Amino acid sequence: MPHIITQSCCSDGSCVYACPVNCIHPSPDEPEFASAEMLYVDPDACVDCGACVSACPVGAIVPDSKLVPEQLPFIPLNRAYYPDRHGQKVPPTSKLAPVPPAPEIQRGGMPLTVAIVGSGPAAMYAADELLTQHGVRVNVFEKLPTPYGLVRAGVAPDHPHTKKVTKLFDTIANEAGFTFYLNVEVGKHVSHAELLQHHHAVLYAVGAPHDRRLDIDGMDNVGVHTATELVAWYNGHPDFVDLPVDLSCERVVLVGNGNVAMDVARILTADADELARTDIADHALAVLRESKVREVIVAARRGPADSAFTLPELIGLTAHRSVVLDEYAQGLVREDLAGEHDELTRNKLDILATLSDADGDERRIRLAYRLTPKRVVGDGRVQAVEFVRTGTEETHRFEAGLLATSIGYHGRAVPDLPFDEKAGVVPNDDGRVTDCPGTYVAGWIKRGPTGFIGTNKSCAQHTVHQLVEDFNSGALADPAHRHRSELQRLARERQPQLVDLAGWHAIDAAEIARGAGVRPRDKFTRIAPMLAVAATAPRPTWRDRLREAITV
Ligand code: NAP
Repeated sequence: MPHIITQSCCSDGSCVYACPVNCIHPSPDEPEFASAEMLYVDPDACVDCGACVSACPVGAIVPDSKLVPEQLPFIPLNRAYYPDRHGQKVPPTSKLAPVPPAPEIQRGGMPLTVAIVGSGPAAMYAADELLTQHGVRVNVFEKLPTPYGLVRAGVAPDHPHTKKVTKLFDTIANEAGFTFYLNVEVGKHVSHAELLQHHHAVLYAVGAPHDRRLDIDGMDNVGVHTATELVAWYNGHPDFVDLPVDLSCERVVLVGNGNVAMDVARILTADADELARTDIADHALAVLRESKVREVIVAARRGPADSAFTLPELIGLTAHRSVVLDEYAQGLVREDLAGEHDELTRNKLDILATLSDADGDERRIRLAYRLTPKRVVGDGRVQAVEFVRTGTEETHRFEAGLLATSIGYHGRAVPDLPFDEKAGVVPNDDGRVTDCPGTYVAGWIKRGPTGFIGTNKSCAQHTVHQLVEDFNSGALADPAHRHRSELQRLARERQPQLVDLAGWHAIDAAEIARGAGVRPRDKFTRIAPMLAVAATAPRPTWRDRLREAITV
């Protein structure tokens, strides 16, 4: 009865190190890890101890006897990663996956102090890695009053397992040496230069908040959105609460077929009563309840074999939604199946080959291929979207009332740092920012918008290793202001409504209470109520302040 890794696998590799028989692969030291869509348990080697279950931060690992029907495809998927041994068990091994060594601090004197800008997965994994070393202090700056970046504002509300990673982040935030400066914007309330006066180093993990823009005629029509806007809107990001999303149309077109497009398509075709049991923002739920949308077209410019969505997401999508292909797309799938492909692509094509067209009344997601967007047709409002068949002159038109482009995220320039406009990243050498001593990057602003939540763990670890190496070599000077109280004073002077860990705990508890046991939480979506609740949190006592004042 082996354990099975399922859809919500975040690829952070924690399970690999927990496994006593090294039966989870690819492990972070193996070359396939970087491009893997998920990790897999070797069913012939698993001893069924469940250690991986406790280590997984997103509840993705399940004994095969406890899988729900829609998870059953993950049994052959896990098995397919390993050679067919015709039922022979693999004897337990004592050769465990090599644990990467922690970045050891070898310099005496003032303990290492690091400012991290951003509080999403890359930021939290970087903080965790730094705090493996005794005495290190990490101050995390976040412009919103709530932490955890895209885990809060990006992960789809109907993927609650993935959001469980916030439990791990809460544990990291509670570690000694960790301090939150929430509701504090670097570049507005404090500058990069000021952070360097209070820290040995500044590490930016600010993600890629913009979206890539589609440059075709008609994009100024009302009803044209980006997927990133829609995602932020339904997840209750305060900057997108008032986005005018009109779902009074019968058809929506999404351009691009990556996992973000899959998320948006799923939410737009979801049953509102099911969504009402998630942490979706109330304003979005109200619009989705009145939605007239019957069909969401997910249009890719290339063919089925080049689909950008991952196999686990396709398995999840087809299990929970009506997913259809027209005859042309079915033909493309058959053509692709005749070619040579890697195992993952072949698995995707096999699933696509089971899909047919449908004209029932059910809400559906239509996967469409070889469609290059040409123009948006409208009279001020979107009426249709025109494509050309990729590589031909043939045009194809879909009547639709809403278009969302889902063609990838794009990084935004960080004040005072160099920026590569084309790639949307801060130029760096494995995390060391080019020509910017004391400055580092991790996550999407370092490597571009690819990978999963856990991919940021190894990415952040690499950066932290460079940072600690520079600290040990003496390349990072002691900051001019060494006392924590000096930074606290500066931050509170500039932002009197600073939210600390106690403030976040108050917001978190209030949102969970508002969920009333029916929803995991009912999010605050405006800043003012968040701050009002944070202000009710217990304030530091004079003892706390005294301890702070004497702590270097
Ligand atoms: P993505 O995977 O890079 O997909 C982008 C899509 O946009 C592709 O289909 C691409 O087509 C298309 N595209 C790009 N430029 C285009 C253009 N000018 N015209 C038409 N189509 C164009 O990006 P994403 O969906 O934003 O996802 C970003 C990352 O987050 C990915 O690593 C994804 O796996 C991850 N993510 C994961 C999850 C999850 O695990 N559940 C959820 C959300 C996001 P081509 O392939 O032809 O370039």
